[in-house]
Amino acid sequence: MSDLIWFDPGLCLIGGRWQAPLTGQHVPLVDPSDGSRLAMIARGGGGDIDAAVQAAQRARDGDWGRMTALARGRILTRIGQEVLARADDLAQLEARDVGKPLTQARADAVALGRYLEFYGGAADKVHGQTIPYQEGYTVYTLREAHGVTGHIVPWNYPMQIIGRSVGAALAMGNACVLKPAEEACLTALAFADICLGAGLPDGALNVVPGLGPEAGAALSAHPGVQHISFTGSVRTGALIQQAAGANVVPVTLELGGKSPQLVFDDADLDAALPFLVNAGIQNAGQTCSASSRILVQRGIYEAVKTRMADAYHALDVGPAIQDRRLGPLISARQKQIVEGFIAQGADLPCAAMGAVDADAPDGGFYVRPHLFADVPPDHPLAQQEVFGPVQVLIPFDTEAEALRIANGTDYGLVASVWTESGARQMRLARALKAGQVFINNYGAGGGVELPFGGVGKSGHGREKGFEALFGFSQLKTVAAYHGSVETGEMT
Ligand code: ADP
Repeated sequence: MSDLIWFDPGLCLIGGRWQAPLTGQHVPLVDPSDGSRLAMIARGGGGDIDAAVQAAQRARDGDWGRMTALARGRILTRIGQEVLARADDLAQLEARDVGKPLTQARADAVALGRYLEFYGGAADKVHGQTIPYQEGYTVYTLREAHGVTGHIVPWNYPMQIIGRSVGAALAMGNACVLKPAEEACLTALAFADICLGAGLPDGALNVVPGLGPEAGAALSAHPGVQHISFTGSVRTGALIQQAAGANVVPVTLELGGKSPQLVFDDADLDAALPFLVNAGIQNAGQTCSASSRILVQRGIYEAVKTRMADAYHALDVGPAIQDRRLGPLISARQKQIVEGFIAQGADLPCAAMGAVDADAPDGGFYVRPHLFADVPPDHPLAQQEVFGPVQVLIPFDTEAEALRIANGTDYGLVASVWTESGARQMRLARALKAGQVFINNYGAGGGVELPFGGVGKSGHGREKGFEALFGFSQLKTVAAYHGSVETGEMT
């Protein structure tokens, strides 16, 4: 592994310099595929966060803050191109660190590059407005950076989430402090190294690895931070919102979901099937927008159950580097949580299970994917986010019933509708409680360009696409009074 890591994983990046954490402490990073130690990473603390915030503030007051949008965009585009050129290296790191099958890890690296290209291109295209107003006034709006933005990132998709949040924040001219997850932070450090190499000014991006309740809590409570974006659990999101609230700082929270796919009798099953399964097992189900609930109209329920069960029987689980359909879960703790959920399904019919490779290392955190059938909508497996390879099948009779079940959780991140009826597509797209609705597909291939975020306990604020640029900036209204030309006077 050490030959894959071209940077020192035990350091923080602060003000353009790699430095040891002020705490003098480190924590181990574990390879989920076999439980071995990959590296020791910095256990950053409040002092490191404080230094990072100050470095970011200096960057805002200095070269980075003074740079034109065009120049910022060019740097981001260069970073994106370098990320794409190094996609294989990044994929290897992510596969080992997250336990993600190599093909999926490479797709994440390509997405990171694409985010930087997208936001590089968008940086100089965020325009204000002129607003018709009273006689004698010209009123216009300016989009301005927040200043220093904090980014608290989880372990499931480090590269994609860094791309969508840090990429958009930098495009608007913010200076960032990034706290990657303690379980997986190699690609965050690699990305920072690539940024430096591509000419990002010192302090525009600072990275402090560390534990959530230490470095993460220090960042979310720091009075020098003007915006926080967080992706992760509801519990931690609520803590971060409270901490930011004490400083009256806005937050963008993306907190997962219990996303449904609604399959109607008239659906094209051949088209739907790969999406029904893959949306549940991608990244071993450790995906905020995983589709963990499959709602199926009674007329095709048995057919869908049989075909999904066949697909499950073919699922293989093994070491990330061997690139099976599923890798291990991120940690022993996550495996324990997911197995606890599976145990709660003991009273349900299990339609099918996938298999773990016989030669998968004993120390890895592997879980067999499970498909449960005939699941009552109020069952814990139909209500709570599992964050593992577990899907439930729920039968329904009418459109109204399907909608009630689909909207009947605390979450609202993503939903999809499989039907040939255009009118039904339109009705449900409006009525579903979700930040994204897909019609006859799921996920639309990732969609760097597509605004993403939730309602309810799935969070608030939008990342991805052009919309993110509004979240990572604030609006200033300028009202200039100049009088009229007729009088040539102010009054
Ligand atoms: P999980 O429980 O799966 O680790 P979390 O939502 O707790 O998910 O973690 C996501 C990110 O939030 C990680 O970077 C983690 O270090 C960070 N984090 C955890 N607890 C806190 C906290 N109290 N304050 C700020 N960040 C935190």
